[in-house]
Amino acid sequence: MSDFVDDPEADRWHYRPPHPVGLNPLFDWPLKPRAVLAWYRGAWLQITSLVICMVFAVAAWLWLLPPLDRMTTFAPGWIVQVWVMNLGLQTLVAGGLHWWLYIRRGQGMHRKFDKRDLTRKNGTFTFNNQVLDNIWWTLGSAMTVATVYQCLILWAMANGYVPVITFAAAPVWGVVWLFLIPMWSGLHFYWVHRLEHSPRLYKRVHAVHHRNVNTGPWSGISNHWFENLLYFSTYFIHLIVPSHPLHLMFHVTFQQLSPVLSHSGFERVAVQGQDAVKAGDFFHQLHHRYFECNYGTSEIPFDKWFGTFHDGTAAATTRTRAHKTQMYTKRPAKSG
Ligand SMILES: [Zn+2]
Ligand SMILES: [Zn+2]
Repeated sequence: MSDFVDDPEADRWHYRPPHPVGLNPLFDWPLKPRAVLAWYRGAWLQITSLVICMVFAVAAWLWLLPPLDRMTTFAPGWIVQVWVMNLGLQTLVAGGLHWWLYIRRGQGMHRKFDKRDLTRKNGTFTFNNQVLDNIWWTLGSAMTVATVYQCLILWAMANGYVPVITFAAAPVWGVVWLFLIPMWSGLHFYWVHRLEHSPRLYKRVHAVHHRNVNTGPWSGISNHWFENLLYFSTYFIHLIVPSHPLHLMFHVTFQQLSPVLSHSGFERVAVQGQDAVKAGDFFHQLHHRYFECNYGTSEIPFDKWFGTFHDGTAAATTRTRAHKTQMYTKRPAKSG
């Protein structure tokens, strides 16, 4: 623990959590039921991105998603409706959070990880501006790919080409699958993300996301087109696993909206001086600062199992740097 307190890089942060980053204790052995309960209580019984995504998923399914029987053939009407729904939700959450945290500066620097403001007049970014760059890659690239994938799955569901359930006929599976979706998403993300860190893909594709060393709400899914083709392929699980359209909608909000909160740059969103919403994810913030660590999420500890976990301590920074050096020197040198 003293290692955490005496970290020589501590002053590179404006704020960081007072304890090393935790991982889901569900995978610890021997199992500690109290710790597991506390983990899931923290995830579901406070205002967290999971809760927010679930609320948006139910609302979108009830009021925004066209009914399945309209989606048996590809027609512009319902496809545009799905696209506008995606654009609208993304703009509402990322735009709203950006306005509160970075324009209105509603909570000043309270619980802000990075000392710096978002970047302007920087040639690294499209339009020389971090926020405009992020909006372009989010609304242009991410929302297009996400919409195409969703429409394919909804069309397949509407035609009965894939197993579709109702909550009345399969209530237990319906609820269990809802709670498993974040775990599936984390598993899929870890492997896709590791692939994107292979030197060739990183340089041509994933670097677009990593322009954001200091992240903001619009950075969450500010990804290259090719990255989005991989990232949103997580939705195709609904072509195999029996699902209801609400499962797809929760998967959609989780995949598209939770990164907005996790990249917001603030650990909590404060309203009227109170820490109201659990937002920023220090686990992933460390990935943006040190790159070759924390490829997954804290939900399934793949990083711990494969030796790439950074818990925020100085020892983990040293380990990550050694891993990075090894990664970039291990490749055989080109002859000639
Ligand atoms: Zn990455
Ligand atoms: Zn990220």
